[in-house]
Amino acid sequence: MQRTLIIFKPDCMDQRHVGNVIDRFEQAGFTIIGCKLTRLAPALLREHYAHVADRPFYPRLESFMGSRPVLVMGLEGDDVVQRVRDLLGPTDSKKAAKGTIRGDFGTDTTVNMLHASDSEANGRIELARFFKPDELFPV
Ligand code: ADP
Repeated sequence: MQRTLIIFKPDCMDQRHVGNVIDRFEQAGFTIIGCKLTRLAPALLREHYAHVADRPFYPRLESFMGSRPVLVMGLEGDDVVQRVRDLLGPTDSKKAAKGTIRGDFGTDTTVNMLHASDSEANGRIELARFFKPDELFPV
């Protein structure tokens, strides 16, 4: 069983697509193991996005991600990391196929609905970044 971290980005929250996205996760057979609404502070975002923090788009990304409270969620399931990335589509929403979450609802390369961990190892690291151990549940 793998685990992954999902962040429902501000565009997903504002457009009220949370229920639609959770429905897709549940239809895929994934289990919610933790969930909370939280505002992401600049220091936490800089740590989470360290791999892009020196890119020109980073200031827009940080201000977008901190612009409102967002839902963060832990999901568990077989091959959940890759299967969620497949449901999500590529980073650039305009290149994402219809039927993927970004293809259906995303706006551009920054405003793109969800964060989802890109490897099993990063899933572990990112879940520990956003959740205390007692906020994640064996179901
Ligand atoms: P992903 O979220 O698809 O795993 P990355 O880890 O490469 O993508 O980037 C993290 C986030 O940074 C993206 O989801 C997106 O919000 C933003 N981003 C990445 N690349 C770009 C870019 N070229 N222009 C604008 N924003 C970007």
